[in-house]
Parts: sequence; C-alpha cells; structure tokens
Amino acid sequence: HVLSHRVEHLAHDTLGFTDGVTLHRFLRDRLTLDRVLAVHPADGHAEQAAEILWHEALDLARRGPTRHELDTFTAHARPEPDDGQVLWNSLRRAVEAEHFGIPYHDAGTLAASYATVTPHDVSAYLERALTDAVLVVPAQVFPRLKALHGKRLPNSDCWRPYGQHAPTPGTRLRMHRFRRALTPRHEHGEYVLTEWGLVVRDAHRDEHDIRFDDIALMHQDGPGRVVLTGCGCHLHVHPDQVARGERLIALLDAAVPAHLVHTDA
Ligand SMILES: [Zn+2]
Repeated sequence: HVLSHRVEHLAHDTLGFTDGVTLHRFLRDRLTLDRVLAVHPADGHAEQAAEILWHEALDLARRGPTRHELDTFTAHARPEPDDGQVLWNSLRRAVEAEHFGIPYHDAGTLAASYATVTPHDVSAYLERALTDAVLVVPAQVFPRLKALHGKRLPNSDCWRPYGQHAPTPGTRLRMHRFRRALTPRHEHGEYVLTEWGLVVRDAHRDEHDIRFDDIALMHQDGPGRVVLTGCGCHLHVHPDQVARGERLIALLDAAVPAHLVHTDA
C-alpha cells in the first residue's frame, strides 16, 4: 500500500507520465502471497517507471515507511460499517481460508493487527520479499538496476534473439505443410525437440526454451495441449499444427507429471 502510494505520487502526481497504480494480490498456497503492483506509463517512460518502482521498493526495504505513511495506511484499512469493498474483501478472505485451510480473520481483527505493525516490520518483510521479486518490463526496455545488496539485478528474457546464439540442436518438428501454406508467418516456425525439453523457434528464428522440468501446468484441450511454463509464457500445441504432432503430444504427456495436468473432465 505504501509502495503504491509512493510510486503513484512520483510517477503520476509529480511527473505525470502514468495513470494510477493498480494492486492485485493472489494467495498461491497457504504460505505464499503474491502481490502485483502494476504501473502503466506513457510511451517512452517505461524505464523511468521501472526505476521509480524499484528504487522505492529498495528504500522501503532499507528504511521502512515513515510513521505518517503507516498511520495513513491504518486509517485507510479501518473498516467502515457499510463499505461494499470491506464486505467483498471479507468474502474473498473467507473463500481463501476455506480453500487453503488457513485461519479466517474478520475486518476488525485485521485492522487491529495492522495498527501494531512497525516500520521495522515492513522493512524486514520487504527485505525478504525482494529476494524473489520480479520486475517485469516491456520488451526492449533495459533498466539498469541493483538488487538490495548492491549486485546488478539479473536480466532475463525468455527469447534468445536470432543471430546472437547458435541454433539449438535437436529433432526439428516443422509446422504442418498445410498450415504453412495458410499462414505464411509460420513458414520458419518450428519446434526443436531435445532431451531436456522443447525449443520454440518462431518465424524470426528467435528461440524460447520449454524445459520439461519447468512446466508449471498442462491443460488438455481436446487433442491439443496448453502448456504453462515457469517463466509465465504459455504454448498451445495442437497435433494438426505441426508435422508429427501426435508424437509431440505423446512426449508432452509422458514428460509432465499427472498432478500438473488439468482436464475439463
Ligand atoms: Zn517464457
């Protein structure tokens, strides 16, 4: 909450190149809460927005919020009697408590516990959270940032650009001839099968690895498969779309453990 206020104050109120900041939270499992803070900067300002967001997060982790910032949050979180948002949040927490088997706290109890949070609690929490925080920026934006303890923030991009890497060796599965004829942009698109997984090579011959042991979830969509990878990308494989497509589907089925496979049935 404090971080979103700081980013909004700088990027929206002061510099004026973003709209408001949006916040989302997802309980991934009973111990892991993912928080997403999204900023939508105007064209050409993505790098600056990323820097503001990251620097403010580091500052909060190092120094914590001010007493005034904490008090503002506590006042904001105090439930109003007929606030629809409070009811909605309570219902969502009740569903999460039921689904994950965790204790349910009503709005009053939560507000009372927020009031006991100290600046040091916040900095300690953020310091832990920042160890696996991910800063997502648009393609071709490369902010030069440091992690909490001064190391360069590692930069990862799922796609290896053509020309900057040797093509991955393996069994090439080309797109189906019929499909190539219908959609010329797939002319050069193909999959490369390796012993550790699948490489997606697009029409520009850029490559993206799909490691079998990095597949987070696979959805059976009739004869096709939708694969969600650890990097957050997804891939839709349909047997008709690629030469030897049935073989590819069978390999995916063999490689992905049953508990990660989702079916509609
Ligand atoms: Zn990816």
